[in-house]
Amino acid sequence: MHIPFDNSYATLPEAFYSKLAPTSVKAPKLLAFNEDLATLLGMEGASNDEVTATFSGNKIPQNSDPLAQLYAGHQFGNYNPQLGDGRAILLGEVIDTNGIRRDIQLKGSGRTPYSRGGDGRAWLGPVLREYLVSEAMHALGIPTTRALAAVATGEDILREQGMLPGAIVTRVASSHLRVGTFQVFAHRGQLDDLQTLTDYAIARHYPDANGPMDLLRAVCAAQASLVAAWMSVGFIHGVMNTDNCSIAGETIDYGPCAFMDDFHMGRVFSSIDQQGRYAYGNQPNMAIWNMAQLATALIQLSQDKDAGVEEATAIIHAMPDQIEAAWLARFAAKIGITTATETDRELIQALLDLMQTDGADFTNTFRALPTATARDQFTDRDAFDAWAQTHTARIASEPDPTATMNTVNPAVIPRNHRIEEMIEAATTGDMAPFERLSTAFATPYTLTDTDLANPPSEAEIVPATFCGT
Ligand code: AMP
Ligand code: MG
Repeated sequence: MHIPFDNSYATLPEAFYSKLAPTSVKAPKLLAFNEDLATLLGMEGASNDEVTATFSGNKIPQNSDPLAQLYAGHQFGNYNPQLGDGRAILLGEVIDTNGIRRDIQLKGSGRTPYSRGGDGRAWLGPVLREYLVSEAMHALGIPTTRALAAVATGEDILREQGMLPGAIVTRVASSHLRVGTFQVFAHRGQLDDLQTLTDYAIARHYPDANGPMDLLRAVCAAQASLVAAWMSVGFIHGVMNTDNCSIAGETIDYGPCAFMDDFHMGRVFSSIDQQGRYAYGNQPNMAIWNMAQLATALIQLSQDKDAGVEEATAIIHAMPDQIEAAWLARFAAKIGITTATETDRELIQALLDLMQTDGADFTNTFRALPTATARDQFTDRDAFDAWAQTHTARIASEPDPTATMNTVNPAVIPRNHRIEEMIEAATTGDMAPFERLSTAFATPYTLTDTDLANPPSEAEIVPATFCGT
């Protein structure tokens, strides 16, 4: 098997990482391999055995320069001075067939100098969740890391729930640079390293940016657009810590994430998010908070500190309007409007208010809007009918509102109860539900598997996701 590695991170100063190989595993078994992504990455001649050996960490592919990256980060608002890849190994980078540089990283591949008390491993459930949900996000058209492979290790690991089967996911990202990567050097006062990192990030992601403040501006724009995209499909990331916030603006780290069924602004799934810091409706605030942390780090590179603070503050203060504009464009399209006005904002909000009051299913309500069945999502049908009348009048002037709606309102999303059901089956060796979901999520705007569009019954609801990843 040939992987055309072209590594750049490994040439950065030693302060950025620890070079080490993954820890080999006992009895690797390939669970999933993303052929399309492998082709995009320019991988050739991959035999099953080689894929299994490589993406379990048992064989280091030629020209890989494996390393664990250093970073820090705010976790639930508290600064943790040293995190780093505690269970991940960057095998290296390739330039894909679109000319984009991409990281290939194993996650769950054993202990590293950044493991702290952890075992360096991941269990099957979160590995398959990350695989399916990240690929679903990609198919939805939302910037995200992707999944290349999932391998069972043949080793059991201990989690709160007891002994569980271990697994490794191979993640592909346009980089693994995080807000926390900047924070670690800024907090330690390693300004030369911070400058090197900034130059590297600009060259890799925003080649038109001129200096740290321009980089901040670009990352803020990417994050504003990303969080609006999440909101538009009912996605709740669940751990928007600064170490899980990508400089490239991709969704990264699918731990306790979930898509909501019935709409509520305050929806939380993560069992450790007791305060609702990362609740659905708080995600825009948290994206801004994270960008403020990036700003704090980058200000240290300013020659004139006062001017740096002033410029960074202006950039952060512009973010609410940026998010609002991106949100409005997304949600306007969801109700069939191509160019939104301020009045349209009220129209959207009125629908969301009705949905929240009635606990209407987020995905199915929007998907049904072009049809006569939308009112079935509501208990107060008169209230919905009144809204629909205003809506119908508004979209009368739109060229093809149904087409607009159907290209942005998915028919199928990774519902939490389906993901849990898939994990349960996979734990007993049954990968059929995984395959089924994988097929359906590949074309989320076309309904191919009617059953998967149904919200959970009362008994099927999975209200919480656990962080014991
Ligand atoms: P996460 O919540 O997955 O973003 O992880 C936060 C930090 O904990 C990162 O530095 C991870 O590498 C580390 N970590 C999570 N799980 C483990 C584990 N089982 N062993 C070692 N480090 C871990
Ligand atoms: Mg993380």
